[in-house]
Amino acid sequence: MKSDIRVCASWRDRHDRPVYTLSDTCPECGGDAENSAPAPFDPEDPHGRYRRALKERRRA
Ligand SMILES: [Zn+2]
Repeated sequence: MKSDIRVCASWRDRHDRPVYTLSDTCPECGGDAENSAPAPFDPEDPHGRYRRALKERRRA
């Protein structure tokens, strides 16, 4: 199952915790939201998702 959850791309600068949303923008600061890194509570193959997320970060 693919997750559509996004996270504020600048949450480390603007918030003290990740801000998740289903929208393209952060509901708290209005900034861009990007596909979220695997959430720690995600029960699906957490190790595989984590490694893929690290690879995807080279885009940033
Ligand atoms: Zn934000």
